[in-house]
Amino acid sequence: MSLVIDGKASAARLRAYIAGQVKQLPSNPGLAVVLVGADPASEVYVRNKEKAVEEVGMASFPHHLPATTSEADLLKLIDELNNNSNVHGILVQLPLPGSIDAQKVLERISPAKDVDGFHPVNAGKLAVGQDGLVPCTPMGCMILLKETLGDLKGLHAVVVGRSNIVGKPIAQLLLQADCTVTITHSKTKDLASVCRSADIIIAAIGKPEFIKGDWIKKGATVIDVGINRIERDGKTKLVGDVDYAAAAQSAKAITPVPGGVGPMTIACLLSNTLKACKISWDKTDEEIKRIQQLAGIKK
Ligand code: NDP
Repeated sequence: MSLVIDGKASAARLRAYIAGQVKQLPSNPGLAVVLVGADPASEVYVRNKEKAVEEVGMASFPHHLPATTSEADLLKLIDELNNNSNVHGILVQLPLPGSIDAQKVLERISPAKDVDGFHPVNAGKLAVGQDGLVPCTPMGCMILLKETLGDLKGLHAVVVGRSNIVGKPIAQLLLQADCTVTITHSKTKDLASVCRSADIIIAAIGKPEFIKGDWIKKGATVIDVGINRIERDGKTKLVGDVDYAAAAQSAKAITPVPGGVGPMTIACLLSNTLKACKISWDKTDEEIKRIQQLAGIKK
């Protein structure tokens, strides 16, 4: 049987570290979470994020708007949050109602406050290896992989899924960690064979238990990003994109669903908010020094 990668425990360690860092800052980092409409899954995610923000001592700026909110009004709110110096991170919970252009909204968020890492500026920085805000779920996957395997150099990583929020950014991070990376998607031929050659499998598809046990090479590490709600034996259950019980027979290590990647996503959101806040403080500090110099004020 394989090692169960405990995302809950890793996330708790990261949150404790962040809480310690927050105490040392001159003022609290602030995160604004914007929810439009009443999608039940989104409401749960947003509630968990806001709770986590408060638990590490950050300030929460919740904005829960009706589904009838216009794109213009949402963009106006983003502008206000961009200009609010107490808000260091802005997260717009997806999906947005169909009447709103989600890409337009995400691009309106200042890249410096884009704690989800979805703005093209941050996606571009990740692609060229510059420091920016990295999407939370991929960052969480990398932390779990490094904690489990240490050095990832030379390992063959197969990423199943090529979305902008999971598949593509995790592939960039794996490449930065010197893995040999194969990105697969719905048009990939013979996905089972490609998966069988993987030392690391990242499953981010959105289809319950799609990756079968006999697709996993003996000794591989499996990171299951998928969250799927299914009915089994008359009960509602959360399962991943990997057939966990079968995959655990071959894998060296595997993340469970729930309790694997999910908690890391929220912890990494807090980490990005802390980073955005520290950068803004450094900038304020630089700005104060510049003004002092201009005004001839010596420290
Ligand atoms: P998307 O729907 O945006 O992307 C799914 C990807 O899977 C696409 O690239 C698609 O390929 C690929 N795909 C679909 N069917 C197949 C197939 N038969 N074979 C191979 N690839 C296939 O999903 P997301 O990336 O947003 O999310 C993926 C999963 O991760 C979902 O279950 C989601 O709930 C979960 N998730 C979990 C998070 C967490 O915190 N744990 C955070 C974010 C997401 P193509 O591009 O060709 O269509």
